[in-house]
Order: sequence, then C-alpha cells, then structure tokens
Amino acid sequence: MPIQKTTSRIDINQRRIINGADADVIQLYPMRHTFAWDAYNIGNANHWLPTEIIMQNDIEQWRSANVLSDEERCAFKTVLGFFTTADSIAANNIVIALYRHITSPECRMYLLRQGYEEAIHTHAYQYIVESLSLDEGEIFNMYREVESIYDKASFILTFNEGIFHPGFKTGTFEADQKFLENIVVFSLIMEGIFFYSSFAVMFGFQRQNKMVGSAEQIQYIMRDESQHLNFGINLINTIKQEQPELWTPEFQQRIIDLVREGATLEYTFAQSVFPRGIFGMNAEGFKQYIQHIADRRLTRIGLPEQFAVANPFPWMSEAVDLNKEKNFFETRVTEYQTGGTLDW
Ligand code: FE
Repeated sequence: MPIQKTTSRIDINQRRIINGADADVIQLYPMRHTFAWDAYNIGNANHWLPTEIIMQNDIEQWRSANVLSDEERCAFKTVLGFFTTADSIAANNIVIALYRHITSPECRMYLLRQGYEEAIHTHAYQYIVESLSLDEGEIFNMYREVESIYDKASFILTFNEGIFHPGFKTGTFEADQKFLENIVVFSLIMEGIFFYSSFAVMFGFQRQNKMVGSAEQIQYIMRDESQHLNFGINLINTIKQEQPELWTPEFQQRIIDLVREGATLEYTFAQSVFPRGIFGMNAEGFKQYIQHIADRRLTRIGLPEQFAVANPFPWMSEAVDLNKEKNFFETRVTEYQTGGTLDW
C-alpha cells in the first residue's frame, strides 16, 4: 500500500506486534516495543564467529583411537545431526513467516539480527563437520534418516503450513491465533526445548575435557538461543496484552498440549539416541530434565506447570543456568562486549 502524504505523526500507541498500520512498519522511532531494541543491542554485543574458536584439540581427539568411545562418537554425531538442520528450520520461519507479518519495526530490527545469528549457528555446525572431516552427507541427512530427529523436524514443520503460503494474512481471529501458535511453537518448543538434550550432551563432553572447541561453539550458540527465547516470550506476552481475545481457554489448553507433545518428542529423542545414558546422564534423567525446562517455558507465558519435577542435572544449571535467563545478560553484559570472550 502506498504511503499517504500527511503532517500527522505516528502515534506509538497504535503500534502493534501484528496488525499494525502499514506505514508504521517503516519507521523505527518513536519506539514502543523497547524489549526488541534491547535484544538487538545485546545480540550485537554478543557477536561471535565460529572461525574464532580453535578446533585443533578437537581434531586431535577425534583422530585419536583412545580418547572417545564408539558410543561417544555416535552421540557427538547424532546431536550434530540434529543441530545442522535445526537452525535452518528456525531461520526459514523468521524470514518467511515472522518477518512478513510482524508490524513493529523494532521487532523487525531484532528479527534481522536473529536471522543472521541462525546463519552463524548453521555455519558453526558446518565448521565442526569440516574441521573433523566428518561425512557431510551422513550428518546433514540425519533429520530425514534418524527417526527421532525426523519426528522433531516434521512436528515443527507442520506449523509452517498455511503461514508460508503467500496468501496468508493476519487480521482475523483464526489467522491471528494460527500465527500466535507458530510463535509459541518456534520459541518455546523449537528454541526452548528441542535444543536442550543436545546442549546437555555437548556440555557432558566439555565436563570430560573432550571436544572442548565444539562445546565452546555450542556455548556461544546457547547464549544466542536463550536470547531468542526471551525475545519470543516477550513477543507472546505482548500479543497477549494487545489482543487478549486470542488467549482463550481452548487456545491455552492447545499450547499446553503442544508443549507436552514437544517434551515427549525431545526426551524420546534423547532416550532413543542414548538408551544407556551418557556421561552419567541416564534416560530417566533426560526425561525429567526436559519436563523441568518445559514447565519453565510454560510459566513464563503465564501457563501452569505440568510436571513439577526437580532439575536432575544440577550441573547443567551452572553451565546453562535457566534461572539466569532473565538476568545473566544484565549482570555480565560488559564481559561480552568484546565479542571474543565467553565467560560464564
Ligand atoms: Fe534461534
């Protein structure tokens, strides 16, 4: 729609995450959704590139016959198999679904940054595969060949259906609920649950002093991802305020059911890939850990806990402490300003 020549200025109270005015999309100031601008600045301060991390130790350990067991090699390749395509799926949703329909320019600014970070993550996995001379065909095809990875990917991709269609528009109750459901599924389940068994495995390697370059790549990725999750939660909670009619009891129940299904897919993945456990984390532990973080995600959008289980991997809360999601950037952000350091 062409812009109108006018002397009347934009009223930020009219600005909306979705269904805002057409012209408003172009004009960053005055700003309403300041959480997005904050997230954009934190993202810039946290900037990093995979090639900055030294992989020599990992290369030697991978080549050596007596550092890694067969089970550890299989676990390493399988989590990499999940990772390599997961960030591409996340990036496509940002660019093809979210960006078109989000009408807040400050949120669009962050989505541009977030999309680039997803590209950096895919680059990191490619860099690990290349450094270790792994079989690219084996790793990058796992989302279609390994059942438990396929199940997670195909679950997530169903939420692109309809929304990826060029004719999809927000502005009706049904379309807006469908769009909000997409944001919830991608933020809470994809970015907030589906990465976490694999994060735990990579930090398990790190704790054994194995594959520490790869684990450091994953630490940077997790720092970015926890910011993506925070932004997604802010989007959801702001849409709830702007369009409270969407948050019906039926919709809330549907979200709860989807998060429960996502948690089951995630611990099934962990249990089928590591049936005998790994690094002291057993199959039941993975299940409880995933249920614990699923509850954390639900409560942050105002929905009730479903599992009420303790965190069985307390060491994870030191490495990737979810309790700190809200404040670790605030307390330590200056240490990240250089971009080249990672100090938890
Ligand atoms: Fe992400």
